[in-house]
Amino acid sequence: MMIDSIKTVAVVGAGLLGRMLVWQLSNKYPDIQITLFDKGNLRHSKSAANTAAGMISPLSELSVSERAIYDMGINALKQWPLWLDKIQQQTNQSVDYQATGSIVLAHVLDKSELIQFQQELDFKLTKHDLDSKPYQWLDKTQLQNKEAQLGQNFDEGLFLNDEAYIDNRALLSALLKFIEQSNIQVFENKPCKIKGSSVLIKNNEMKFDFVFDCRGVGSNIKNLRSVRGEVLHVYCPEVSIKHAIRFMHPRYKLYIVPKPNDVYVIGATEIESNDTSPISLQSMLELGSALYAVHPAFAEARILEIDTNLRPAMIDNNPVIQLDNNKMSINGLYRHGFLLLPEVLNTIIDVLENKSHQYNWMVKNV
Ligand SMILES: Cc1cc2nc3c(=O)[nH]c(=O)nc-3n(C[C@H](O)[C@H](O)[C@H](O)COP(=O)(O)OP(=O)(O)OC[C@H]3O[C@@H](n4cnc5c(N)ncnc54)[C@H](O)[C@@H]3O)c2cc1C
Repeated sequence: MMIDSIKTVAVVGAGLLGRMLVWQLSNKYPDIQITLFDKGNLRHSKSAANTAAGMISPLSELSVSERAIYDMGINALKQWPLWLDKIQQQTNQSVDYQATGSIVLAHVLDKSELIQFQQELDFKLTKHDLDSKPYQWLDKTQLQNKEAQLGQNFDEGLFLNDEAYIDNRALLSALLKFIEQSNIQVFENKPCKIKGSSVLIKNNEMKFDFVFDCRGVGSNIKNLRSVRGEVLHVYCPEVSIKHAIRFMHPRYKLYIVPKPNDVYVIGATEIESNDTSPISLQSMLELGSALYAVHPAFAEARILEIDTNLRPAMIDNNPVIQLDNNKMSINGLYRHGFLLLPEVLNTIIDVLENKSHQYNWMVKNV
C-alpha cells in the first residue's frame, strides 16, 4: 500500500482501537490529516473499552484461545509499558499499569477446576515455555506472602507470572487529551456509515483518502457478533489486593481486578447476545458471591457502578484486519482487546507500509 499517497484519513469509532490508532498514526505520520468520528461522547465513552477490566493475561486466556492469542499477549506485555511511558510524556497523564502476575483460586471443593485449568495450560504450552515456569502452585504460606488477605480463606492457588492489568479508563482519558492537544478533527455524537473511503453522517458525505472502520460491534462487517459482558465496580478500603484474581467455579469463571483508590472491578459474564439492557439478577448474584468468597470483607463493599457492554467477536473469536481498497476494517478483538492491541496495531502499520509481518492469517483482502 501507498502510505505516501495518503494525505487524509478518517478513523470511525473512538474506543480502544480507534483512539490508539489515531495516536499511532499521528506519531508516525505527522503530515496526514486525521479526522476521528464516534457515535457517542468521547469523555463519557460507551465503548467496550470503557467497560473492560483491562487485564492483559495471555496465560489465563490461553486455556480458552488459540496459541496465537497467547503469543500476541506475551508481546503486548513488552509493548504496553513503552507506549504508556510515551503517552505520559506527551500528555502528562499517567496510566496505572501493574505487571504483578495473577492468582487463580477455587474453593477447596472445586479444586478440580484448578487442576483442569493447569492441564489445559500444559496441553497448549510447549516444553520450552514450561521450562521457564510460567506458573507455579502456591501453598497457603506462599499465597499469604503474595496476598496476605487471601491466605486466610484459601489453602492453595496458582500464580501466573506473565500477566498484567491496565487502568483502561485512565488510558482512554490520556488518549483523549492527546487527541485534543493534537491537530485532529473530532466529530462526536455522530453515528456514521462508511461507503468506500467516504464517511456518511445522515445525508452528508465526507471523502477521505483512506478510512479505518474501528466501530467494534457497530461495524457491519460479515460474521461479526456481540458477546455481552457485565461488571461491577466496588469501593472497598477494607480489602487490599494487588494482584488480579481469577476465581474458578464449576458454573462460572470470574475475576477481580484492582483499580486505583481502593476500587475493584469484578467481571465478567460472557453471554452470546447483543442485549445491552441492565444486569440480570443471576449475574449480579454470581459476581457478588465471587467477591464475597474471595474475602468476606467485600461484604461491606459499596457498589459504585454496574456496567454492561458488548464485545465484538468474529466467528472464530480471532481478530481480523479486512482490507477493501481504501478502507480497512479492524475488528474481532473480543475479550482480548488490551491483550491483542499492540500486535494488531503493529500489523496495521506493516500493512500500510507494505512490510511483511507474521500475522498473515489476520489480514484479509475482501
Ligand atoms: C465486560 C468486558 C470486559 C472486558 N475485559 C477485558 C480485559 O480484561 N482485557 C482485554 O484485553 N479486553 C477486555 N475486554 C474486551 C475489550 O474491551 C474489547 O476487545 C475492545 O474494547 C474492542 O475495541 P474496539 O475499539 O474494537 O471496540 P470498542 O472499544 O467498543 O469501541 C468501538 C467504538 O465505536 C463507536 N461506534 C460504534 N458504532 C459507531 C457508528 N456507527 N459510528 C461511529 N462510531 C461508532 C462506539 O461508540 C465505540 O466508541 C472486555 C470487554 C467487556 C465488554
